[in-house]
Amino acid sequence: FALRSQDDQVEEPQLSDWFNPKKRPDVLTVTDWLAPVVWEGTYHRKILEDYYTKQKITVGLTVFAVGRYLDRYLEEFMTSAEKYFMVGQRVIFYIMVDDSSKIPWIQLGSLRTLKVFEINREKRWQDISMMRMKIIGEHIIHHIQYEVDFLFCMDVDQIFKDDFGVETLGESVAQLQAWWYKADPTEFTYERRPESAAYIPFGQGDFYYHAAIFGGTPLRVLNLTQECFKGILQDKENDIEAEWHDESHLNKYFLLNKPTKILSPEYCWDYHIGSSSDIRLVKIAWQSKEYNVVRSNP
Ligand code: UDP
Ligand code: MN
Repeated sequence: FALRSQDDQVEEPQLSDWFNPKKRPDVLTVTDWLAPVVWEGTYHRKILEDYYTKQKITVGLTVFAVGRYLDRYLEEFMTSAEKYFMVGQRVIFYIMVDDSSKIPWIQLGSLRTLKVFEINREKRWQDISMMRMKIIGEHIIHHIQYEVDFLFCMDVDQIFKDDFGVETLGESVAQLQAWWYKADPTEFTYERRPESAAYIPFGQGDFYYHAAIFGGTPLRVLNLTQECFKGILQDKENDIEAEWHDESHLNKYFLLNKPTKILSPEYCWDYHIGSSSDIRLVKIAWQSKEYNVVRSNP
C-alpha cells in the first residue's frame, strides 16, 4: 500500500455534506467550539464511505492485551472488530501483548492486516494502562505514521455490537464516557489535586472523556500520547498518581486541546446503566468488569 506523509494528509469532507445535528434535538450534537457530537441519526455514512473509499484510506486500531486481559477479552474484541470496525476500508490491527503465543486464531478479511508486538509487562495494572501512552507514541513514530491515515486506540475489555464506521474519523476524536455524559461538570471525576499534572479545577472542563476510545490522525494521536505521558512521568516524579490514571491525563489534554469530533455514548455504552431513549444504536459495549479475575498486583 502507499506510504503517506503529513503532506498528503487526507482532507476531511465538508461537515454539512454528511452531518445533520437537527436530526437529534433530544441530545447535544454540537459543542461550544463547533465540533460535531456524532449520534445515531446525525450522519450520512454512505456519503462518507464513498468519499473515503475513493481516497483509499487505511485506518489503524491499537489494542493492548496483557496478562489475563489477553485470555479473557482479546478474542471477542478481535472477532467483533473484524465484523464491525471500518467495514469496507483497509484496516491494520496493532495488537500489543506480553505473550504472542496466546493470541487466538482470528479469521481476517482481505482488506485487513494484523501486526502483533510483544511488550514488557508492567507489574501494576495501573502502569500497564498508563504505559500504553508511551508505547503507542513510539509505534506511531517508528511506523504507524507511514502506514495509516487515521488511528484509533481502544481498551480490549469491550465488544463491537454494530458498525463503527467512517463517521467516527477525524483529526482528533474523543469518546464521551457513558456514565457521565449527562452529568454536570462539577461532578466529573477529574483529577482535583493541584499537585497532579492532570489537575482540572472545579468550574473548568467540557465533558468527561473515556480513555477506552480515542483517535485521530497519527500525528495528532502522537501529540496526545506524548503530552499525556509527560504528565504521567511528572506525577511519578512528584510521587502522585492521578485518580483515573491515563484517563485523568487524557481529560486534561482534551481540555487544553479540544477534540475536533466527539462520539456519543452509543459508541461505548455500558448496558449496566439501563435503557435510555438517547441510546438508539450501540456500536461498542463494555464487557462486565471482572477486576478480581483479570487484575493482579504484586
Ligand atoms: N490492560 C491490560 N492488562 C492489564 C491492565 C490493563 O491489557 O493488566 C489494558 C487493556 O487493554 C485494558 C486497558 O489496559 O482494557 C485499560 O485497563 P482497564 O480496562 O482495566 O481500565 P478501565 O476500563 O477499568 O478503566
Ligand atoms: Mn477498560
